Amino acid sequence: MSLYQKDYQVYKAINQELKRQQDNIELIASENFVSKEVMEAQGSIMTNKYAEGYPSARYYSGCENVDIVERLAIERLKKLFGAKYANVQPHSGSQANMGAYRAILKSKDVVLGMALDQGGHLTHGHPLNFSGIDYKFIPYYVNKETEEIDYEELEKTAILEKPALIVAGASAYSRKIDFKRFKEISDLVGAKLMVDMAHIAGLVAAGLHQNPVLYADIVTSTTHKTLRGPRGGVILTNNEEIAKKIDKTIFPGIQGGPLMHVIAAKAVAFKEALREDFITYQKQVIANAKTLADELMKRGLILVAKGTDNHLLIVNTKKSFGMTGKKAANILDSVGITCNKNTVPYDTEKPMVTSGIRIGTAAVTTRGFKEKEMSKVAELIDRALRNYDNSEELEVIKREVRELTTAFPLYK
Ligand SMILES: *Cc1c(COP(=O)(O)O)cnc(C)c1O
Repeated sequence: MSLYQKDYQVYKAINQELKRQQDNIELIASENFVSKEVMEAQGSIMTNKYAEGYPSARYYSGCENVDIVERLAIERLKKLFGAKYANVQPHSGSQANMGAYRAILKSKDVVLGMALDQGGHLTHGHPLNFSGIDYKFIPYYVNKETEEIDYEELEKTAILEKPALIVAGASAYSRKIDFKRFKEISDLVGAKLMVDMAHIAGLVAAGLHQNPVLYADIVTSTTHKTLRGPRGGVILTNNEEIAKKIDKTIFPGIQGGPLMHVIAAKAVAFKEALREDFITYQKQVIANAKTLADELMKRGLILVAKGTDNHLLIVNTKKSFGMTGKKAANILDSVGITCNKNTVPYDTEKPMVTSGIRIGTAAVTTRGFKEKEMSKVAELIDRALRNYDNSEELEVIKREVRELTTAFPLYK
């Protein structure tokens, strides 16, 4: 009410965004819908407090209450993943990765990371990102046939390059990742292993994916993807020495005061993730992705790695329809289906064009979609892409999208 009166421009944009989230089918694999309780904590007066340092070791007075929430966040996070040490202060996944790298690497060290056009993240060595500037990243690839990580080639590359660190984890990879195998290869060449589980953290927390904490020297994550918390990052480790270094590299190394309102929201989200119904939710996320993948393939669409084990899948729109990812994403956007263009392995198109789209099921599952709705979503995607030049049919599809979202109210 007061925002409405005092800053109508921002109020209006927020409300338009609410309506957009309510009306559209949200399939961006890195997004989710947080609970009202997470938002309540994040929108709280905890934002007012400066708390440089860590619980019981702060630079300012008056930290007794923010200490409570940071300790809760740490304890819950450790429990969730079975880790001995946790840092909940990284402002985002990128900061978590920067903090992790700085804790174990020197400038120009050799690091192996998944090729960026095959699923790796910007912070895994993009030339314009700090990671690609500060360290010498060398890519590893997926097998051209299976489009799954080629562990044998990875091992050969590791032996050849003698990296200080191997990074496992991806932003656009639809198959399980064998962290145990990564650990064996790291040990073989005397490298450290870091796992960036940003996308799959929710699945790991629910016990539905191999837990990287068992194998890696450091595990980083975002908190806002499948984990369904506020936007932010975290770092986990079982190694006391590394834990101490991480705390120093995050603060005072690369950050100032922690975002205490976000840490409060992280604590709330971690408690939600410890509940039994979080496992049910994550099982549904995977079942929904499988149904969507199967239904799309039944209609003749070609998926990268021929399907999915997790919450996301990538459609090769070039092979399926002779269409770029950019065009496909734009067509889907025009009917109220939100996803993103995405490179496919060995893509020949530029990153702003691409040959595919990435689709995730975490957000629609939160709103209540099950297998039946996912079949319908597959039908709508297929129809829209086939009828891209038929504006009447696109109008019909748009109405069907709206019917579906109206039946599953969000933030009533
Ligand atoms: C999303 C993501 C990140 C970083 O997330 P931001 O919070 O946007 O900085 C890091 N690594 C991977 C693998 C991701 O998918």
